[in-house]
Amino acid sequence: QSVMAGAVDVLVIGAGQAGLAAGFYLHRMARDAARGRGGPAPSFAILDANEQPGGAWQYYWDTLELFSPADYSSLPGYRMPAWTGPGNPSAAHVVDYLRAYEDRYGLPVHRPVTVHAIEDHPDGGYLTRTDRGTWTSRAVINATGSWRRPFVPRMPGAEDFTGSQLHTTGYRGREPFAGQRVVVVGGGNSGAQIAADLLPAAAEVTWVTRRPPRYLPDDVDGRALFALATGHVQATRRGEPSPGGVGSLGDIVAVPPVRQARDAGRLQAQPMFSGFTPTGIRWDDGRKLEVDTVLWCTGFRPDLAHLRPLRPAMEGTVPATAGDPPTRSRDRDGLFFLGYGDWCGPASATLIGVGAPARATATAAARHVLSGG
Ligand code: FAD
Repeated sequence: QSVMAGAVDVLVIGAGQAGLAAGFYLHRMARDAARGRGGPAPSFAILDANEQPGGAWQYYWDTLELFSPADYSSLPGYRMPAWTGPGNPSAAHVVDYLRAYEDRYGLPVHRPVTVHAIEDHPDGGYLTRTDRGTWTSRAVINATGSWRRPFVPRMPGAEDFTGSQLHTTGYRGREPFAGQRVVVVGGGNSGAQIAADLLPAAAEVTWVTRRPPRYLPDDVDGRALFALATGHVQATRRGEPSPGGVGSLGDIVAVPPVRQARDAGRLQAQPMFSGFTPTGIRWDDGRKLEVDTVLWCTGFRPDLAHLRPLRPAMEGTVPATAGDPPTRSRDRDGLFFLGYGDWCGPASATLIGVGAPARATATAAARHVLSGG
């Protein structure tokens, strides 16, 4: 039996950008209530597995730069401070910003606390079991991101490959790859950025993508992506033809290092290989390549293992959601999802995009709690 760690109305799991944005709106309700405005507010706490603030941003590589300027990378309430370096802000700048954001609003973040399982409370609401005791709450907002669930496709011969394999989550910079022959797999932003980043250090960089790389127009940044994602969702909701989501424009934001490598002809993508040899990779046409490292930039899945006991309704590989934006579980009252991807709000996996779904989620969670749910 684990000890009781706390009882709140709303428990937020995860203190990355999504959990903090929800925290901002819950904090604002409490502040307004204390000033006698806007009725009662729910109590809340935020649990986070990391030792330090910053969510996934603290694990990104040093040379990563945001797709957008600081002005278009802000959470609700508090603008990201200006970036004085070249290009767009670095991941470290985002970590500093998220730390300052927590402090500014005095958000009740408890860390390091890892949630193992969420169960139904026999008296209603939820029981959240962690490595530091059990919490009870009426509502749960899941904002656990995807960083801890890297996805790597299965490939024939992978177990016999004697070189090394790692995922985006293991990439912290080009130094360990100096002089190596590296294959980078993946036609998204991580693949393009890491392939470009490796060029000055690795002996050979082979970039492999399932379909030819699709670059967004060079002038498209995070603000334009946000506008596109929003337009797509609004049109679909009105039953009108969509102007096309972000995917209609391309997959890769041409941030300056990627653009430079591409324009210099150094980012030529090869088609996907079909399997491993003991010392490299092979294609269906019989071609082989000797390599030291295969770096999988093949994405993530939502980190939701702790919800297994609740068995929320699913839609494909993600929980089924409803609402506008769709952040509440379709069948589990008081259970919400925030930040993971477009399935829980347009552009909700971005700094600029998570504000609107966070506001709707905090409001819906409060309403659920205060209506006695
Ligand atoms: P996270 O940042 O992953 O935070 C989730 C938190 O939940 C973590 O602190 C984690 O420890 C905690 N957690 C998870 N499971 C548990 C558990 N069981 N118990 C307790 N705590 C738990 N977005 C932009 O807006 N602009 C960009 O330029 C941009 N560039 C990107 C570049 C790359 C290479 C990548 C991979 C992503 C980029 N993104 C960008 C997307 C953005 O970084 C992520 O979408 C964002 O970090 C997700 O935020 P989050 O709060 O949902 O999750």
